[in-house]
Amino acid sequence: MAATYRQQYLRLLPAVEKVLHGKPLLEIRKTVPRTIVLEAVQEVIAEKRSLIQKAVSEAELQGMDVSSEKLGQEALKKIKQKTDPCLKPVLNATGVLLHTNLGRAPLASAAIEAITCVGKNYCNLELSLESGKRSSRYEHVEQLLCRLTGAESALVVNNNAGAVFLALNSLSSGKEAIVSRGELVEIGGSFRLPEVMAGSGTALVEVGTTNKCFLKDYRKAITDNTALLLKVHTSNYKIVGFTAAVPLSSLVKLAKEHNIAVMEDLGSGMLIDLSKYGLPYEPRVQDSVASGADIITFSGDKMLGGPQAGIIVGKKPYIDLIKKNQLLRALRIDKLTLAGLEATLRLYLDEEKARREIPILRMLTASGDPAARAEAIVAELKEKLGTAFRVGIAREKARVGGGSLPLALLNSCQVFLEPENMNSGSIAEKLRQADPPVLARVRKNRILFDMRTLREEEDEILLKALLQVLTP
Ligand SMILES: *Cc1c(COP(=O)(O)O)cnc(C)c1O
Repeated sequence: MAATYRQQYLRLLPAVEKVLHGKPLLEIRKTVPRTIVLEAVQEVIAEKRSLIQKAVSEAELQGMDVSSEKLGQEALKKIKQKTDPCLKPVLNATGVLLHTNLGRAPLASAAIEAITCVGKNYCNLELSLESGKRSSRYEHVEQLLCRLTGAESALVVNNNAGAVFLALNSLSSGKEAIVSRGELVEIGGSFRLPEVMAGSGTALVEVGTTNKCFLKDYRKAITDNTALLLKVHTSNYKIVGFTAAVPLSSLVKLAKEHNIAVMEDLGSGMLIDLSKYGLPYEPRVQDSVASGADIITFSGDKMLGGPQAGIIVGKKPYIDLIKKNQLLRALRIDKLTLAGLEATLRLYLDEEKARREIPILRMLTASGDPAARAEAIVAELKEKLGTAFRVGIAREKARVGGGSLPLALLNSCQVFLEPENMNSGSIAEKLRQADPPVLARVRKNRILFDMRTLREEEDEILLKALLQVLTP
């Protein structure tokens, strides 16, 4: 039997029509389809009804506002959630340059323009404008990639995991590939080299130990069924201490003796020498090509700074084999990505231009100190927030992230916030749900906003979002 207090509250619930036509929903009804508005109102009323029915004492319901005004406001929030874009820009104040969860590399303006332009119009994706005949989508970037890397031939697919899978499937399906035990990587939880190899039909032959592997280990493992030697760049970890790995050039020599191929998965795929900018040396694609690898794979959206893509460069007979693989169609790159990738690669024709205009390279090689920007934000926050927070400048390091240069620490500075009476975790959560969402680092009771991953024009947006969340 329902208690009378519950019945009383249930009777107070307004009718759907009343909430629907109330003031809070007046504006949004003009633009949002009726079914969505109606659904939101029905959900809000159903939630309240359920709360009332579950209440075990009258006290629990005391002060509950079930006016049509209040329900309208709650419905409005729901409608916004239902209609706002789900995928949206965020401010990356984490100090991690390549954050896979945050979409890795932001694109250069040239790439964005190319994507917009090709997206808006028809394009010559698979048509030769010269002959009027059908052509291949892969041709648009092949010459450019060959020129930049020194390779004979090139191909691009959906992502690097796909590139590795497709190359293995084309070159070593039904056969064996030899890999050093210390190079069996896992990237971001879902790319595990042994599993990708198994999926491609390649039998994995592990050689060496976790920390040491010698040429003789590879040599001993070669059989009649060996198709290739696979070298994997340990992109997101380092083995330090007593270590030994075989250089690519030695593997190439050994492979030639046995008439088998050498493939290298570079992961990130740099085209410029970072040591010039005081960063640790990261193998460049050109170096692997020059060492004689037959196939090299790398990502478009890691340190290269372009859109998500898997790039395969190497010797023509091997690339031709991959081009003929039926599975290429399942991993093919789309025209928008291709447009963005081509524009990004074109910037590399002039290294200084690439460094200036590709956001990842700009952030990576930035030499100026962003302290002045941080100080301006701190001054503004001090004035607006009063004494509820301690505000200042911290000097922690930024990181490259995205499975690249795991040990590199980049000089940076952060605005920090230390709440007097609040939990920093709960503030970070509110900031994550702000408009636009702000992603920051939390250190004990401090929230840190790293300037290295924020563009100058984002400072103002950050400040606004902070004040929106932190001021009552
Ligand atoms: C990142 C990475 C991959 C996977 O590349 P995606 O672009 O994530 O598909 C494969 N191998 C190595 C060594 C990597 O670093």
